[in-house]
Amino acid sequence: MVPGQQDGAQVHFADGRQETFDLVVGADGAWSRTRPAVSPVAPHYTGVTSVETSLDDVDTRHPDLARLIGDGSVSAYGANRSLVAQRNSGGHVKVYTKFRAPLDWHTHLDLADAEAVRASLLALFDGWAPPILDLLRHGTAFVHRPFYALPVSHTWTHVPGVTLLGDAAHLMPPLGAGANLAMLEGAELAESIATAPGDLDEAVRAFEERMWARAGRWAKITTAGLERLVSPDPAEAIAQFDQVQPS
Ligand SMILES: Cc1cc2nc3c(=O)[nH]c(=O)nc-3n(C[C@H](O)[C@H](O)[C@H](O)COP(=O)(O)OP(=O)(O)OC[C@H]3O[C@@H](n4cnc5c(N)ncnc54)[C@H](O)[C@@H]3O)c2cc1C
Repeated sequence: MVPGQQDGAQVHFADGRQETFDLVVGADGAWSRTRPAVSPVAPHYTGVTSVETSLDDVDTRHPDLARLIGDGSVSAYGANRSLVAQRNSGGHVKVYTKFRAPLDWHTHLDLADAEAVRASLLALFDGWAPPILDLLRHGTAFVHRPFYALPVSHTWTHVPGVTLLGDAAHLMPPLGAGANLAMLEGAELAESIATAPGDLDEAVRAFEERMWARAGRWAKITTAGLERLVSPDPAEAIAQFDQVQPS
């Protein structure tokens, strides 16, 4: 992409086509192909990784676990690891394990081998209460998701014709903010453009200032939250985290 042209930004597509747009919005997630047009910064590994699994028809197949999870979610915390089981619709439950580990922790494990991953997780959570371990015993496929983040308060010098929103702009630990921010920002960018007809660049600048301020606050909260929730002694940290509100 060639940003900052007088008539907008020129995009080079993989099939060789080139096209110029008034505004290119990089809403293309953590590994944004648009971000390099405005910022040289890339996401870094947070030191915390996650392996996710799920259970189907939990009310019928696993009524004890369904009662444990209730209508919402259940979380359990230990030294440098945690597990959250969250009820979705239709009796589907997502189970997220999180633990501190080097990025290459799975070098000797075939991540495509569900039984090997299950055994590895059961060893990692050895000694935890049987119902918590049952969430892993009954899980189906396992998905590995190392957590990456952009630096807290990532901003860039405004470039005419290009902007970012969502994870592309402010990838942060997944503690309940990212999708909400991305949706809100999409709406706010549209609103900013619609209410400043004739001055697209000014509308985008105003949007960026607002996004940066709010995303910076959430990045700080979620970064501190991940540090505390997956830590050697999470008990005190959880009590503190529950009281944190964005300003
Ligand atoms: C395990 C986990 C749990 C989470 N839980 C929550 C939660 O409870 N609440 C919450 O608010 N957030 C949560 N999040 C964070 C949330 O998922 C993200 O912040 C959100 O999806 C970001 O939205 P986005 O549109 O910026 O990026 P994405 O959702 O990543 O969407 C980007 C889109 O761009 C497309 N794309 C990428 N590159 C290209 C390209 N070159 N050309 C065309 N298309 C492209 C991708 O295919 C994708 O569809 C969670 C994240 C994880 C990993």
